[in-house]
This record gives sequence, C-alpha cells and structure tokens, in this order.
Amino acid sequence: MRRESIHVDQVITRQGGCHCGRVRFEVLAPRNLRVLECNCSICSMAGYLHLIVAADRFKLLSGGDALTTYGFNTRTARHLFCSICGIKSFYVPRSHPDGFSVNARCLDPGTAAQISIEKTDGRNWEAQYPAGRGEYRD
Ligand SMILES: [Zn+2]
Repeated sequence: MRRESIHVDQVITRQGGCHCGRVRFEVLAPRNLRVLECNCSICSMAGYLHLIVAADRFKLLSGGDALTTYGFNTRTARHLFCSICGIKSFYVPRSHPDGFSVNARCLDPGTAAQISIEKTDGRNWEAQYPAGRGEYRD
C-alpha cells in the first residue's frame, strides 16, 4: 500500500489556452495559485501573469502548428504566441529554460481557489536572478 503524504495545498490538473482556441494545454499546479507579475518590457506590456511549472507538469494538447516564436535580447526565452489570435498563453521563460511559464490569465475559469500575485523584478533581470535562473517552488 502506498502511503500518501499530507499536502497542505493539493495539486490539480487545469486546462487553458489561447483566445481562438487553437492552442490548448493542460497544467498541473496547486489549487491555490502563486503567480508572478513581472515588470520587464514584454511582460508589462502584455499584463502577463506567470505560473511557473516544471516541464513534466505541462502538456500541449493542441495548436503546436499555430505557434509562432518571438525572441529578443539574450533569446533564451522562447515567446510562443498563437499566430491566429496573437495570445501568448504559455512560453519558455529565461528564468526557467527547462520548464514553462503558463499565463494564469489563460487558464479556464473556475479552477483556482485563490490566486496570490507576487512581483518579480524582471526589468533588472541579473539582480533578480543572481544564480542565472529561478527555482521551482511547488
Ligand atoms: Zn489562438
């Protein structure tokens, strides 16, 4: 018999996607979401809310053929957006190049018990991430 550990915050599967519905994904994350609001040039323009997850917690369900990649600066981040509706529902962030950042604004409604927003200083990237990358927290 497998012994289950007691988690304060249960991890659940959610779905989300872009505006036109071509891009759809599934993500495993805690019921109470902790997301990051970044002040860097691209995130502040888009109002992007980062839900950072390891690669094995993310699955692209459809729309891979509709994705276009935008790169700038170090080009470590792969900004993936839907070529039809223009929405960036997830991407590969510079802080977690081996994982994904899901846009919490693109999750299907009604699945988050609570969303807490923390600020991250992406405008001063090197100071915010002195180790050259961010950690996975949940
Ligand atoms: Zn779309």
